This record gives sequence, structure tokens and C-alpha cells, in this order.
Amino acid sequence: MIRAIRLVTLLLAVLGLFEFVGAPRVTAQEAPTEAASSAFQGSLPSGGGMVLIETLPGATPDALVDELIERGCQVEVLAITRGGSFQLYAPEAPTFANAAFRASFEPGALALVRCARPEIPDEHLLRIVTKDRALPADFVPDSLALLPDDLVIPGGGAQYLTEETADAVARLIEGARAAGHEIAVRSAYRSYQEQVFTHDHWVSVLGLDEANRRSAQPGHSEHQLGTVADVTSASVGWELEPAFGDTPEGRWLAQHAWRFGFVESYPEGAEETTGYRYEPWHLRYIGETHADWMRQTGLTLTEYLARIDAEAN
Ligand SMILES: [Zn+2]
Repeated sequence: MIRAIRLVTLLLAVLGLFEFVGAPRVTAQEAPTEAASSAFQGSLPSGGGMVLIETLPGATPDALVDELIERGCQVEVLAITRGGSFQLYAPEAPTFANAAFRASFEPGALALVRCARPEIPDEHLLRIVTKDRALPADFVPDSLALLPDDLVIPGGGAQYLTEETADAVARLIEGARAAGHEIAVRSAYRSYQEQVFTHDHWVSVLGLDEANRRSAQPGHSEHQLGTVADVTSASVGWELEPAFGDTPEGRWLAQHAWRFGFVESYPEGAEETTGYRYEPWHLRYIGETHADWMRQTGLTLTEYLARIDAEAN
């Protein structure tokens, strides 16, 4: 009941924006998709928000709700025109209350729909780890999972990622295989203590300055998040080197990794922003929604996360 009242309040607030007579049609953002069995025509807003759609003859509100859900719209508000005014359709209301809506739409009926904003992945996926921002020495991700052997390079040993990242990397590698590319994980979760050993090693081999370009100081590695995988292929001898970016596998990843929620943290030509030279093998999981948004902005991950952080504070 409270939910219904909340919906009505919301709806009234929104309807204030429209003239009841001759309500303006909201222009569809994409080409209309029409299937013979469809209950409506027009497109749904991808980032939440309100839209007016035109119902199709013969369809019912129930069919419309089913189709909206199927097309990824978590319905927050749904109102339909009937007899010249808008009426709220509440799928969860008692049957008698919705009885009038069981019938087919009136010809040319409009539906006003608001979809919930897409779910934002957990904040931990967006944590900033750079040369300036470290993780605490005792930071250990929840739920580390051992990667199955077939996801790891030959002789790659035990590699761990958070459970959700492990699932995502399995889908990524499966997707690459389906496209004819064999890639595997060479390096994944790295504890604070491992970073101490690794960094000391590089300092002894390369000196401090060059070591800092290649290897993070302890606490400053994204690998400590458990959401980063260094991947490679046989065409570069399973090594981690910039040439990987020019292999068919590297090119496929650059084009498709975002679909699986992964982005390059250290793209080519961005050392000034990221602090690291080009690392086409270093993929961080931020979830599909953010990976898509980041791709559309054209920002580096460093810039993207900084903007999100700035907006949240
Ligand atoms: Zn890496």
C-alpha cells in the first residue's frame, strides 16, 4: 500500500510536466523496434528516466509489463491513457483494482514508463589505486577464488581473483576462444607482501626510477584489489610485453574486453595520466555498465574513476 502511494505521488509529480490534453510525444532515442508480438513501439531510456511509448493494438498492460521487464526495464512507474486521462497501472495491486486494465489498450493508447536506473556495481570495483593513492597493507579482498587451470598460462601456478572477477575472466576467455583467440591469465591477485618482494626485486635489477615505471610500490598495485588480471597469449611466449597489444589476441581484447566488464588501466600514450607505460595485458574488472560508460567517455580509467570520485564527494 505504501509502495502504491509512493508510486502515485511520484507519478503526480511527473505528470505535472505534461499537458493532459495533447501530451507531447517524447522522441524515441533509438530506431523503433517492432516485432509482431510486441506490446509497444518506441525505445526505452537506457539510463533510467521517463518516456512515453505508443502501445500497439491488441496488447494488454500485463503483456506490456512482461515485455518491458524482458527488455531490461525494471518498471518503477507505469501509467496508461484511458478515456482521455492517465491511470496508474500497479502490477502488485489487488486484482479488482487493476480490473479495468486487464482489457486491451484503447487504440493509440500511450504508456508513460519510468525504468529504474541500471544497478551500479559495488563501490569496491571503482576503488582508486594509483601512484598517489595506496591500499592499506592489510587490505585483502573478500572471497578470493582459485582460477581453474584452463584459465591460467602453462606453468602459471596458483592464481586468485575475487569470485565475481574470476567468473568474468572465465566469460572473457570463453568469448575470446569463441572468436578463435587463446588467451590466459599470467598474473592476478597480488598481496601486499608479494608487492614488497616484487618491487625490491625490480629496484635491485633496474634501479629505483625505472622500477617505479614498471612496478608499483607496495600498496599501490591494482593487483591487490583482486579484480585485475594480466593476460597474454602464446604469440608473445606468454610474456607480458607491449607487443601483445599488436597480436590478434591483444587487438581482440582492446575491442571486446569492455563487453565482459574489463578495461585497460594503462593504455598506450597515457603514461602522463596513468603513471605507467603501456600495458595492454593489464585488465581491470569494473563491471559491464562502467566499462561501457568509460568507453563512451573516451577517458582513461584513472580519469574516469577520479571523476566518479569527485561527483560522489
Ligand atoms: Zn598488471
